Amino acid sequence: MSEERTEISTLGEFGLIRHLTDDNETRQAGTLMSVGDDAAVIDHFGKQTVVTTDMLLEGVHFDLMYTPLKHLGYKAVAVNISDLCAMMATPTHITVSIGISNRFSVEALDEFYQGVYAACERYQVDLVGGDTVSSLKGFVISITAIGEVTPNKFVTRTGAQVNDLICVTGTLGSAYLGLQLLEREKRIFLENPGVQPDLQQRSHTVGRFLKPEARTDVVEWLIENDIVPRSMIDVSDGLSSELLHIVTGSKVGCVVHEEKIPVHEEAREMALEFGLDTTTCALNGGEDYELLFTVAQSDYEKISRSEQISVIGYITDAQEGAHLITRQGNKHRLVAQGWNAFET
Ligand code: ADP
Ligand code: MG
Repeated sequence: MSEERTEISTLGEFGLIRHLTDDNETRQAGTLMSVGDDAAVIDHFGKQTVVTTDMLLEGVHFDLMYTPLKHLGYKAVAVNISDLCAMMATPTHITVSIGISNRFSVEALDEFYQGVYAACERYQVDLVGGDTVSSLKGFVISITAIGEVTPNKFVTRTGAQVNDLICVTGTLGSAYLGLQLLEREKRIFLENPGVQPDLQQRSHTVGRFLKPEARTDVVEWLIENDIVPRSMIDVSDGLSSELLHIVTGSKVGCVVHEEKIPVHEEAREMALEFGLDTTTCALNGGEDYELLFTVAQSDYEKISRSEQISVIGYITDAQEGAHLITRQGNKHRLVAQGWNAFET
């Protein structure tokens, strides 16, 4: 963070909003009215609009001790875009609302917005509004993301059919292990503030936690290759919990093979270091923001052409329940541990 500290009070609410949005660019043809009026106006040219919103509270959803504000701004946008991806929608616009106390300087908010703008550039979305309010102490962030789909081409959690292949993008469990490392380094730092952690060796896992990416690339690839998933969800709470959403929503069952669950090499090493099981991390760790979806068996050949997609199992009758077959061939019932939003 820079040395300078400008108090928010020197700008006032409107001055601050102007300061944060002065250089705001628009890149979407449909942005008819952006920041500056009572509301934004968006033309979607005959497409259907998809909307999602998320709220993040300091101390509950993020810890500023190890989360740089720029990363936080990026991540707050990316996780909303991930929800749009999970509907097979193309992101177009966001709004960003913040609750701030005088603990934060204008420079700190600038850093946060640098992350927000970097994500806007990366995902080609326009920031078209928001709200700025004061909070007593913690930092509060609420982001709404808007996207578009060709009429009735959105994909829900409830369309999985018996014999569908279960697919997942990228690798799982990395973000959870990155978080474990950051939490450990935080404890060490609190006990001995002189020690600076060396996280360079662990850039994959730490990076996956601090700066996750939404899989817009996979959504584009699926559209280009005419693959229409029958059901889809993004992996924010861990594979088990997301699979159970699809299975219960679609009134089906599933079988997943442990050896097929994609795990990054660095995550394997870290799990070993922490005495954790990689499959448990993949099943119950959160915040990977990969996509979990099902496709008809006839799409197998097409799907197998993408290195980003792993087939991890198949959909069964509801009576079969939801199971994991371990490497040793044992059958375990899948249970949702995930993140409990109400657990502290
Ligand atoms: P109103 O009182 O009509 O809600 P505001 O003064 O809150 O208007 O906001 C003025 C404009 O600035 C609006 O276009 C609003 O969407 C936008 N805005 C406010 N806060 C933010 C923010 N934190 N980030 C981006 N845009 C913002
Ligand atoms: Mg307002």
